[in-house]
Amino acid sequence: MAKKLSNVNVPIDARETFVSIRKTFSEGDVALKLRSLYNLQQIDTELDKIYQLRGELPVEVEALEGKIAELNGKAANVAEEITRAEKTIQELKQRYTYCKEKAEKYQAQLDSGVSNSREYDSLTKEIEDHDLWAQVAMKEIGKNQETIAACQQQIDEIDKKIEVRREDLKAKNEELEGIASSTAKQEEKLLARRKECADKVDARTMSAYERIRKSVRNHIAVAAVYNGNACGGCHSAIAPQKLIDISAGKKLIICEYCGRILVSPDASDAE
Ligand SMILES: [Zn+2]
Repeated sequence: MAKKLSNVNVPIDARETFVSIRKTFSEGDVALKLRSLYNLQQIDTELDKIYQLRGELPVEVEALEGKIAELNGKAANVAEEITRAEKTIQELKQRYTYCKEKAEKYQAQLDSGVSNSREYDSLTKEIEDHDLWAQVAMKEIGKNQETIAACQQQIDEIDKKIEVRREDLKAKNEELEGIASSTAKQEEKLLARRKECADKVDARTMSAYERIRKSVRNHIAVAAVYNGNACGGCHSAIAPQKLIDISAGKKLIICEYCGRILVSPDASDAE
């Protein structure tokens, strides 16, 4: 197993340890208990792998869904800006038409003849003003059209990003479904075997086992001797006398550094 082992001693919850169950553990068939515990550990390690595999994907799926929702929100904001600009353009067009009509009306009045220079000046000024306002409106229309074009480009870019993430999400969802269905049978089998093993372990030992498994990073409460003389849980060296006792498999041997139960690597019934 290419499991990375930590060299650091892992502190274990002192309230319920294998040390505290040593006495009750020594009653009855210790070898059977040890074998059951080690089997249990190996089954749980297999189950951990399944859950780990599945465990990361839902988080990734959720992150992608969040990102897509965020991008959709952004696109909606930009779309709102387009709607505002379109409305402004409509108003500006009306203003343009109004000013042009007014200018034409004053022009017609001017063309039909004026009675004095004051009237002439007044009409000329009205024509100039309304022509100018019409020009301003036209310029504003242009600016708003530019805004719309820029917004449209932004939306296109956001849509591309959404598309990429949607594909990613689809793939991740398929992967997740694949894993769930492919591991379902294995999980079921392991859970059945786990129950068989757990039934052979007394409640106190079980609670110590669960507690220690939860408290250590590698979730190993029952460690096989590693590399001939080291604890498979924390990598600390094991004293020679303890190694002999572990091989004999008739006593509960606990790693003095990490508190895990130590067993011989060939102490399991695992296929
Ligand atoms: Zn250890």
